[in-house]
Amino acid sequence: MLTIKKSSKLDGVAYEVRGRVAAQASALEAQGAKIIKLNIGNPAPFGFETPMPVLAQMQEKLSFSEGYSESRGVYEAREAIAAYHRGKGIESVLPDYIYTGNGVSELINMSLQALLNDGDEVLIPSPDYPLWTASVTLSGGKPVHYICDEQSDWMPDLSDMRRKISRNTKAIVVINPNNPTGANYTPEILEKIVDLAREFNLVLLSDEIYDRLLMDGEKHTSIATLCPDLLCVTYNGLSKSHLATGFRCGWIALSGPFELAKEYIDGLDMLASMRLCANVPAQSIIPIALQNLDATRPLYEPGGRIYEQREAICDAVNAIEGLSVMRPRAAFYCFPKIDMRRYHIVDDERFAIDFLRAEHVLLVQGSGFNWPIPDHFRIVFLPEAAQLREAMTRLGRFLSTYQQ
Ligand code: PLP
Repeated sequence: MLTIKKSSKLDGVAYEVRGRVAAQASALEAQGAKIIKLNIGNPAPFGFETPMPVLAQMQEKLSFSEGYSESRGVYEAREAIAAYHRGKGIESVLPDYIYTGNGVSELINMSLQALLNDGDEVLIPSPDYPLWTASVTLSGGKPVHYICDEQSDWMPDLSDMRRKISRNTKAIVVINPNNPTGANYTPEILEKIVDLAREFNLVLLSDEIYDRLLMDGEKHTSIATLCPDLLCVTYNGLSKSHLATGFRCGWIALSGPFELAKEYIDGLDMLASMRLCANVPAQSIIPIALQNLDATRPLYEPGGRIYEQREAICDAVNAIEGLSVMRPRAAFYCFPKIDMRRYHIVDDERFAIDFLRAEHVLLVQGSGFNWPIPDHFRIVFLPEAAQLREAMTRLGRFLSTYQQ
């Protein structure tokens, strides 16, 4: 019998958040091990619940959600989304230029498939949320990573970004607030990114799924508010802000010169139609969810679970010799640094697997986020503070004797 091979389109496509290290964790679990999971931004298993009015709305609307919706999405949902983004200052957003999707994930793929020709380059942050790199590759594009600078609170390094622009560059991806670093970009940095996009005629793709998950009085600026003259695709959804990852509810909002983007919009329409529509029960909760923006905010204030878990994890990481972490100001991720003079790690996936096997804690190695040096890893700080401290006690113990 012939073996059945995967498509060569998948060459170079990786998604380590659910990759080889996570597979090893599942194998250990199957043998009865209890694993502390710090690998995935999925709030529900850690006791976080979707706000009640949102759940109640889905129950109420379920019996009216049996048919396909328009491919761009249920009109009332798109109206609510448009109002949300206009409220944040993106003036040109209209329901007609919004597409709902089965999570932002589907729309990242869709929007890149519609945009890229083979060989087109897309600037993506390093570290990134790896779906971006994977989707650019799958769409025939070439991911080109610009460095975010840990010394400057993980802000994008603009000179690196400029250096990496070529005549094939088509778009800049901004992930703000950022996964995995937890950085929330300043308006000044965003202005400079806009200047580059304007100078080189680039599309801006701004993943803002964490825009409502802010701590320490941070304010979020949508990059599209700074460039009404440029085509900007803003990605958002309910997975994280409404603790509803399983509902698969996301959207994109286009802004800027629609008349210049007519062909691109035709492409998006084609791809949206080919998948018929996003799931309708999830679209039915968008209006009420966007009226309940404060429901999860207490989690991010002093005394709230996410805030206190951030404090616990950062203190615990910084107490381990040879580790340091920038305190994230948004979302529920941090990206600690390993001092290479002390630990000599050459293969960070091996480090994550060795740690998992020895101490039953699941992390994702920095290279899984397209970070070029094996000296970082990501922690998702959704577990309770006591469990986070326990995980870091195990990490300190593991590192004290670890050699590669
Ligand atoms: N964008 C970023 C930056 C993310 O971190 C995630 C999920 O972790 C997604 C997009 C995907 O979100 P969704 O659940 O809407 O597909």
